[in-house]
Amino acid sequence: MDHFQLRNGELYAEDVPLSRIAAEVGTPVYVYSRATFERHARAFRAGMERAGRVHLAYAIKANPNLAVLRVMANEGYGADVVSGGEMARALAAGMPASGIVFSGVGKTPAELTKGLEAGIGQFNIELEEEGEVLAALAAARGLTASAVLRVNPDVDAGTHAKISTGRKENKFGVPVDQAAAIFARLAGRPGLRLRGVAIHIGSQLQSLEPLEAAYRRIGALVAELRAAGHVIDRIDLGGGLGVPYQPGAVYPTPDALGEMTARVTAGWDVELMFEPGRVIAGNAGILLTRVIWVKPGVVHPYIIVDAAMNDLARPALYDAYHHFEAVRPAGDRMIANIAGPVCESGDTFAMAREIDRVVSGDLAIFRTAGAYGATMASTYNSRPLVPEVMVDGDRYAVVADRISAETIMHAERVPDWLDRV
Ligand SMILES: *Cc1c(COP(=O)(O)O)cnc(C)c1O
Repeated sequence: MDHFQLRNGELYAEDVPLSRIAAEVGTPVYVYSRATFERHARAFRAGMERAGRVHLAYAIKANPNLAVLRVMANEGYGADVVSGGEMARALAAGMPASGIVFSGVGKTPAELTKGLEAGIGQFNIELEEEGEVLAALAAARGLTASAVLRVNPDVDAGTHAKISTGRKENKFGVPVDQAAAIFARLAGRPGLRLRGVAIHIGSQLQSLEPLEAAYRRIGALVAELRAAGHVIDRIDLGGGLGVPYQPGAVYPTPDALGEMTARVTAGWDVELMFEPGRVIAGNAGILLTRVIWVKPGVVHPYIIVDAAMNDLARPALYDAYHHFEAVRPAGDRMIANIAGPVCESGDTFAMAREIDRVVSGDLAIFRTAGAYGATMASTYNSRPLVPEVMVDGDRYAVVADRISAETIMHAERVPDWLDRV
């Protein structure tokens, strides 16, 4: 459930009419609902606590806006970060370093050092050499890195190929059949406290079965590691729970995930870590846009909106579906294509879709844009960087400015040796 609903024929974010945000901030603009973030954060926690002792690390790559991170910090979440930049954001938002998990297949020695010096709670090691370097960097500073080994369980997550991460040909983690040997070689190193293993098999998971298969492989590995004398006190089960982008789609709930986790991990006797991203942020945000033109097409008209692939990349990247609705639906419907102004045919949000009838100048939204939306925005075609707004009851704040093409241009230089003489 979210807080973007019709009231008297007009779409609101909580108690704020979207038309007011469009008038005062302009479009396109992302709009987040604080109450929806909080609702999702609490529902996810309640689900996972069925499985016992948990630490929740919000995967901030889904939506790293500082205001969003503050909401999650207030909900007791730590952060899953995948770069030095994300680590800086989590710390800036007030998340304690001890609650931060540092993931990512390409952490540089400089980033590992920054993490050590900040006192990051857990490093998820992706390959043996990274573990060796992390141990050496820590030992040289008289520190001990708390870490787990990311294992690739070789399961098919049943999701889009570009967001599958747990098959053996993917770049993530160490192969499950080599994990025990690599663990044993790293475990004894000074500077490293290797305390468990991690998995993350993919995103937008539609079923719990691949996760359950991965959990079972991890359970077997943990038994093997313990039999070899290792102390295992943490298992990181990653993120990946999907959300319904299409009306009526049904996805496993946090409660169902918690129930499955409780059943499969019974007796593991560890702290369980989770890294939810999309399931927290997805339906907590929309992209508000204005129709520029309704352009006649050969078969269906093209609705040309002022949002584009640079603002919301998912349709162009993954053929993703985002539900489109008029802010003031008149009641009748039309079949149309929806596209942005960018000069690429890939800048198309939908083809031959039945939608609310709209005319030039109307406001509309793309739903389920709170995750992997603004954070993937670019300035392609020298468009401004899209702003973000957070609503809280009957008030709202701009939580990220629109950055103009002129401002971005000011970061560029023409060297004087290009001057004509
Ligand atoms: C992206 C990512 C997540 C979050 O995935 P969601 O599908 O958004 O829940 C969690 N852990 C790791 C390591 C990731 O890369």
